[in-house]
Amino acid sequence: MNNIENAINELKKDFKIYSDENTLIIHSTGSIDSLKSKPDIVLYPENKYDVQKIVRIAKKYKIPLIVRGGGSSPTGAVVPLNKGIVINMKRMNKVTVSIENGYVFCEPGITLKELNEILKKYNFFFPPDPSSISVATVGGAVAENSGGMRCARYGTVKDWVLKVEVILANGEITYFGEETYKNRAGYNILDLIIGSEGTLCIVTKAWLKIMPLPKKIVRIAAFFNKIDDAALAILNIRENGINPLILEYADKYGIEAANKIRNFNYPVAKGGLVITDIDSYSNECNMDDLLKSVYKIFENNHAIYIIDTDSEKEINNIMEVRRIAFTSPGILYKNFIDGDIVVPLSNIEELLIRLNKLRTKYKNVFLSICGHAGDGNLHPQIGYEEKYMNDALNEVLEINRIAIDLNGTISGEHGIGKIKNELLLEQFHKRNMDINYKFMKNIKKLFDPDDILNPGNFGL
Ligand SMILES: Cc1cc2nc3c(=O)[nH]c(=O)nc-3n(C[C@H](O)[C@H](O)[C@H](O)COP(=O)(O)OP(=O)(O)OC[C@H]3O[C@@H](n4cnc5c(N)ncnc54)[C@H](O)[C@@H]3O)c2cc1C
Repeated sequence: MNNIENAINELKKDFKIYSDENTLIIHSTGSIDSLKSKPDIVLYPENKYDVQKIVRIAKKYKIPLIVRGGGSSPTGAVVPLNKGIVINMKRMNKVTVSIENGYVFCEPGITLKELNEILKKYNFFFPPDPSSISVATVGGAVAENSGGMRCARYGTVKDWVLKVEVILANGEITYFGEETYKNRAGYNILDLIIGSEGTLCIVTKAWLKIMPLPKKIVRIAAFFNKIDDAALAILNIRENGINPLILEYADKYGIEAANKIRNFNYPVAKGGLVITDIDSYSNECNMDDLLKSVYKIFENNHAIYIIDTDSEKEINNIMEVRRIAFTSPGILYKNFIDGDIVVPLSNIEELLIRLNKLRTKYKNVFLSICGHAGDGNLHPQIGYEEKYMNDALNEVLEINRIAIDLNGTISGEHGIGKIKNELLLEQFHKRNMDINYKFMKNIKKLFDPDDILNPGNFGL
């Protein structure tokens, strides 16, 4: 018998083994189709001791272990390239809310949407909000250090995690961080786990900070004829000391796609759409001054059309434009590639201009640019016909190189997974920081000497 057969025989004693074709296909990929590989089996643990048992058996037979949350990673992070066991966390979804301590602690399989539905009953919320919240799980969001719309004010997941319970590669259960809002005891190993893409340990519980829900939100959407006007408006919001809840961008192609897909009638402005939210924590608070300041910034930057609204329907419709700008390449084309780059905010204008110029060079490739402009994080999303695959791949390379060139980075929130390994090395090299990769390799060895935890992510 080979290793996997031996492992399955041991696992059978405690677990139902899923190896039917349908289950294996579902677990062969994330949210991109281009990278696929079926695992040998899929398991659904119910608690941390189940996970511990699986890890011990996988270690004994040196079988790759890939943890899966919602499977929404667009970087191949969740693809079992070397086969092995996929651990699907969906049955581990218990939550405890502690309002007095300002945190929740929960198992990793709960989705961020479910978590926020529970918190809403207490008038609280968990701020990081990837657009994929209905599928993205707490475990996946911690492992990816996910971001989202509200990062403009609240930062990414790492700013909201106090502590994690994990299973190490040898099966030991341990913790990183403390249940306190402040903690300076030793190295900050917790931050190493957040964003480690399942390569260092398996998260079985997370303690997450929460915030009271705003009482009132006004969404303001401004349409621009020129890209540089839109970029300056984004910069001016920040420069003027406004601390927006969200500050998002969608370009002309995204607006066009949204109008087509959802039958909207928003202006297809050549410079794109900037969306911002202002909010208040009291019903009595007058938001007029803040609203006037935002209008002034948009008008000074020659916005051609401005909407402000507190109607839930219109708020959602405007966000739908932004969301479709992200997903449209996948809806309109058979093949798509996800983009996720960040630059310092002062370079956002140059970034938008350079990205737009790529359209002339790669005429046969569809490019829709949107993103969390308030923190410099854009998603240049690509759609293409099979015959233009080389053009698409070259354009992706150029997009990432532009980000590196503008003192930015090749990922703000989607991570590296298995598709950006070369670019990661390129970024480190360009910055004269190759030592980072050596450190990463050593850290991986320390946590996972047999290389069973999600082998291949980060190219490790
Ligand atoms: C339409 C769409 C919109 C998106 N929008 C955003 C966005 O706005 N912001 C953003 O940041 N991301 C976004 N994403 C990317 C993705 O949704 C996030 O990275 C998400 O948080 C991943 O969660 P998941 O549960 O789906 O993780 P999965 O895809 O299942 O896994 C991702 C990685 O985490 C690891 N992992 C999962 N659970 C655990 C665990 N318990 N312990 C250890 N490792 C684990 C996996 O092994 C894998 O490496 C988007 C994706 C899509 C498809």
